Amino acid sequence: MIKIEKSDRLNALPPYLFKEIDRQKEEVRKQGLDIIDLGVGDPDMPTPPHIIEALNKAASDPANHRYPSYTGMHDFNKAVARWYKRRFNVDLDPAKEVVTLIGSKEGIAHIPLAFINPGDIALVTSPGYPVYDVGVKFAGGQTYFMDLLKQNNFLPDFEAVPKEIARKAKMMFINYPNNPTSAVATGKFFEETVAFAEMNNIIVCHDAAYSEMAFDGYKPKSFLETAGAKDVGIEFHSLSKTYNMTGWRIGFAVGRADVIDALGQIKSNIDSGAFQAVQLAGIAALDGDQTCVETMNNVYAERRNILVDGLVNLGLVIEKPLATFYIWIEVPKGYTSAEFASHLLLKGGIVVTPGNGFGAAGEGYIRIALTVGTKRLKEVIERIGSVGF
Ligand SMILES: *Cc1c(COP(=O)(O)O)cnc(C)c1O
Repeated sequence: MIKIEKSDRLNALPPYLFKEIDRQKEEVRKQGLDIIDLGVGDPDMPTPPHIIEALNKAASDPANHRYPSYTGMHDFNKAVARWYKRRFNVDLDPAKEVVTLIGSKEGIAHIPLAFINPGDIALVTSPGYPVYDVGVKFAGGQTYFMDLLKQNNFLPDFEAVPKEIARKAKMMFINYPNNPTSAVATGKFFEETVAFAEMNNIIVCHDAAYSEMAFDGYKPKSFLETAGAKDVGIEFHSLSKTYNMTGWRIGFAVGRADVIDALGQIKSNIDSGAFQAVQLAGIAALDGDQTCVETMNNVYAERRNILVDGLVNLGLVIEKPLATFYIWIEVPKGYTSAEFASHLLLKGGIVVTPGNGFGAAGEGYIRIALTVGTKRLKEVIERIGSVGF
């Protein structure tokens, strides 16, 4: 046996905060208790049939069995530009301002390699999607966390970032509609983001994974709709949540051409692009009838109403979200995030995610994903009602 030692970058990873929940889940499962898992943000409904048909057709064409282009098929990038124009009225050059990703997580994790030198600073929100911080650290950078607080509607307060840090920062990650808080951004916030980025020379990476998952007539804006946005940054999108395609691994980034080009350069040295048959299915998704998106949003809105109304009735403090399939819940007095999550799991067989797993500022909250049907959600309310808190 040779002696192996993990790299410093792996050893320096933040502690995996869901370990304890995973262990408790196993314990509860062994006891034979019925578990309702509201932990993971993975849609429970299938991919719409017209997208699967497009994959089936493309999968049997030998032209798609070869290496794809690492920046994406031109046809996919053109479909992205068409979708952007229709959806946001933003013009994109498919040859220069679009790159196809093997899921948006891939691009988010890789982009710091294009801009971060050891010791460079990136601004990341807390709580936030953990990949932002990890990607920065893998590139040798340092993360400065901008806390998302309830009194600021879970938007970062740029005034609170020390001037020295702002001046030194090279990149920033933001995400609206937001995972895990389900907060949405205003046009004014995006304008402030552009101004702050311009003043401090910061590349803005806006993660718009949930731009299509919204309710009550609310339509999230693209960051690129903001004047000057394309001069300071890019936007990440994913087909995963919009079309129930998390397993397919397809997404894209769009925006400032030299930033997109640098991300493509990193990718050309690491991966060989997304399977073309999946890209052709992605074209069918983007160009096709969008009724499926509306149908799914109606399902999530109904689930949201049932769960939020039921839990508010029990005395929990929750804002009914306008977007995403997450419910961000303040833990009752006397509990930490981890304690409340354990209580629901051990006593009620309900898996939720403790908010501090998304960053220190998520302490005091739990996140529920609306990824089970209404019957199960009603049971969640009953169980929480009977175990109490
Ligand atoms: C789900 C998710 C993604 C990643 O989606 P992919 O499947 O990698 O395209 C990116 N950002 C956020 C905030 C997410 O919740």
